[in-house]
Amino acid sequence: MRLIFLGPPGAGKGTQAKLLTERYGIPQLSTGDMLRAAVAQATEVGKRAKAVMDAGQLVSDAIVNEIVSDRIDAPDCANGFILDGYPRTVPQAVALGEMLKGKGLKLDAVIELKVDETALVKRMENRVAETIAAGGSVRSDDNPEAFKRRLTEYREKTAPLSEHYAGTGELKTVDGMADVDAVTAQIEKILA
Ligand code: AMP
Repeated sequence: MRLIFLGPPGAGKGTQAKLLTERYGIPQLSTGDMLRAAVAQATEVGKRAKAVMDAGQLVSDAIVNEIVSDRIDAPDCANGFILDGYPRTVPQAVALGEMLKGKGLKLDAVIELKVDETALVKRMENRVAETIAAGGSVRSDDNPEAFKRRLTEYREKTAPLSEHYAGTGELKTVDGMADVDAVTAQIEKILA
């Protein structure tokens, strides 16, 4: 099973991807998590990506295409994977299409979580407050200003992907404002 999740930041892509990894026994490949790990380890990629990520802007296509291509070759991806946060631009989607073709692979579905953007800002503020109350630390791009910039980046660069994948016939849309279990149920219906 090879899946892509689309939807603005805070739409619940990561949460749903995590649930599906358990259901299908395939890994969730989050480019955001991979980049944050590179920043934490201060690798060359991490050093190049940090300032861009903190500003809520997109890391270059070349960097993310390469980390995804390498990751997909790992043995734990043999039965599939769930991409979360990639592709993020139409050129990344085109690159992914070529990458998969070159590896003899195909996507099973592209799942878009449709959400109300004003409700997302509230959701993000609640998530930060809950994390802090629980004694956890928040991401350095989890503040209202960077979040709004991530939303703008999404609208300008990632939203056109819906049209791209509608054109290829792979796009499936679910109501991302429903509660977590109801969203999972909608996704499982699509994949059944
Ligand atoms: P995320 O955890 O998916 O919200 O990603 C956090 C940050 O990582 C984004 O704001 C970008 O700076 C960077 N990032 C993650 N995935 C990508 C991608 N596919 N293309 C470019 N930048 C990305």
